[in-house]
Amino acid sequence: MNEKELEIVKSTNKKSKPQTDQISFGKTFTDHMFIMDYEADIGWNNPRIVPYEPITLDPASMIFHYGQTVFEGLKAYRSEDNRILLFRPDKNLQRLNLSSERLSIPAIDEESVMNYLKQLVSLEQDWIPTTEGTSLYIRPFIIATETNLSVAPSQSYKFMIILSPVGSYFSGGIKPVSINVEEQFTRAVKGGTGTAKTAGNYSSGYQAQAKAKNEGNADVLWLDGLEKRYIEEVGSMNIFFKINGEVVTPELNGSILNGITRMSIIEVLNEWEIPVVERKISIEELYQAYADGELEEAFGAGTAAVISPVGELNWLGRKMVINNNQIGALSKKLYDEITGIQTGKLVDSHQWILEV
Ligand code: PMP
Repeated sequence: MNEKELEIVKSTNKKSKPQTDQISFGKTFTDHMFIMDYEADIGWNNPRIVPYEPITLDPASMIFHYGQTVFEGLKAYRSEDNRILLFRPDKNLQRLNLSSERLSIPAIDEESVMNYLKQLVSLEQDWIPTTEGTSLYIRPFIIATETNLSVAPSQSYKFMIILSPVGSYFSGGIKPVSINVEEQFTRAVKGGTGTAKTAGNYSSGYQAQAKAKNEGNADVLWLDGLEKRYIEEVGSMNIFFKINGEVVTPELNGSILNGITRMSIIEVLNEWEIPVVERKISIEELYQAYADGELEEAFGAGTAAVISPVGELNWLGRKMVINNNQIGALSKKLYDEITGIQTGKLVDSHQWILEV
């Protein structure tokens, strides 16, 4: 695919930037956004950076009716020496295309989109907060825009990128959270859409999340949809356990999202020669490990928090308190390593960083 020339229309009405300590996630957006259109006969076209503003869609646009949409989430970090760093952004664009394939959305050209993304972040660089733990969250997404109520793939789409400065996930330091093991609802099944980042996977989790919150938990541990036994993910994160010196994470089984933090953690653990396995792990096995005193640490892994320690797991009235509800040594070490690479404090020996 030839790269189409990027048009840039600059905003003449710049917004004031929020204080870093006053940003709630996903509510503040920068001055510009990226848009590109797709029509069946011409493909992706008209890439442009324009002032951030509402878009107008026909009420019959297919996105509103059958949820044909995909998205990604990644961050730009400002290093101490003032560079702008992206963490494995190629993996996000690859995953976006995999999600699109599952939702029958046409692929984007990863190389040109990477270039547009870099230009957008570069234009908005003053929006990247600089205090510890902060970043500029990048949300690429695609929506089906054809005006048509037929249940069939749309013939037109919009691909957009919006940017949102985000504060530290853990204000006041990393805190272990309490998690409810969800027995009633299912996030995804093999053959479904669990491996895609698509809207319905998230909204269909809200009921379970609300139930967990009502019972004083921060989020949900999802089990497989078929047997309700095997552990899948925690909230919008992949999950890891340290059991008797070995790190275990559920294998990519066709319903789990292939997290970029997850794949990076596995690579780092291999490098450190800490045993790590990707395999099926049932909630019964986990409980037994806990009862035997072998469950040493548990943590979620994802772009938002990087590492989110699990201090307590509640399963059918049974409570597992992990590592005395304290952040474990390995969780901390991994957090420091991954965030150190992301923010340019540590040497990027894996070539994971793309400088804007
Ligand atoms: N699982 C789900 C369901 C997610 O939405 C995310 C966030 N993208 C993750 C896992 C973690 O993926 P990543 O490390 O790429 O952010």
